[in-house]
Amino acid sequence: MDSNSLKASNIRTLEGKVALITGGASGIGESTARLFVRHGAKVLIADIQDELGNSICQQLGTQETISYVHCDVTSDSDVRNVVDLAVSKYGKLDIMFNNAGVGNAEASVVDADIKNFKKVVDVNLFGGFLGAKHAARVMIPAKKGCILFTASVSSVLGGSVGYSYVASKHALVGLAKNLCVELGQHGIRVNCISPYVVATPLSREAIFMGMEKEILESVTHKAGNLKGKVLESEDVAEAALYLASDESKYVSGVNLMVDGGYSITNAALR
Ligand code: NAD
Repeated sequence: MDSNSLKASNIRTLEGKVALITGGASGIGESTARLFVRHGAKVLIADIQDELGNSICQQLGTQETISYVHCDVTSDSDVRNVVDLAVSKYGKLDIMFNNAGVGNAEASVVDADIKNFKKVVDVNLFGGFLGAKHAARVMIPAKKGCILFTASVSSVLGGSVGYSYVASKHALVGLAKNLCVELGQHGIRVNCISPYVVATPLSREAIFMGMEKEILESVTHKAGNLKGKVLESEDVAEAALYLASDESKYVSGVNLMVDGGYSITNAALR
């Protein structure tokens, strides 16, 4: 490693910032929490998997730098409390990463289960709305902030997976656009990240129906556009780091595809 790249690797892009990450106990959220801590942020992980969330925090630092709190993103009071906790514990909230999500792969609209459909929309869309609403409450007086959503290639493609998932992710991008217009006046940036398939519990269990990690990776490898490359949750975390940092200080209202160009091939996954 030459001295320039050594210097670059020591840059801590989020030094002094406070980030709240929903769905931070697993997959993309967990990788993002790890990367944000490495880049100097104080991080609050909000999830419903208490054991996992607590153990990640123990691995990554002390209560002064990272902590876990139980929060169901579909509960207004839970989300309100976790935002208030970020402010009382770490002094402010700079980055709200609305990442928690669930999947469902209804094959046919006729057979789609109504309860499941509502649950997916509740977590993926309404959960994101609550996160943005409460984050905006504390970011507006501060006149700055960054709100991020994890959408998906399903936010721009029809037929990629099930009805509820595709509908919720399309709607999330619409929500982000509206927020971008209103909150830009207060110095707050709002963006989405849209990954292609990453081998996480969500994709394995809810979308690919229990497919083993290795098989899922070989499927995504074949279907992906960038030959020879498999998308990892760490790659999505890098996109979140860019959008959360001041490096992207004039970027707002984008839906950043992290899909190796998959979405413009307009190919369906199945
Ligand atoms: P994951 O299952 O590893 O992580 C999702 C996390 O969300 C889990 O820790 C889960 O406990 C949490 N969660 C679920 N419901 C919640 C609730 N009601 N309140 C709080 N937390 C809740 O899956 P992941 O793939 O890392 O998913 C993260 C985001 O990425 C999701 O929004 C998902 O839709 C999106 N995404 C995933 C993929 C993929 O292929 N894995 C692709 C595109 C987008």
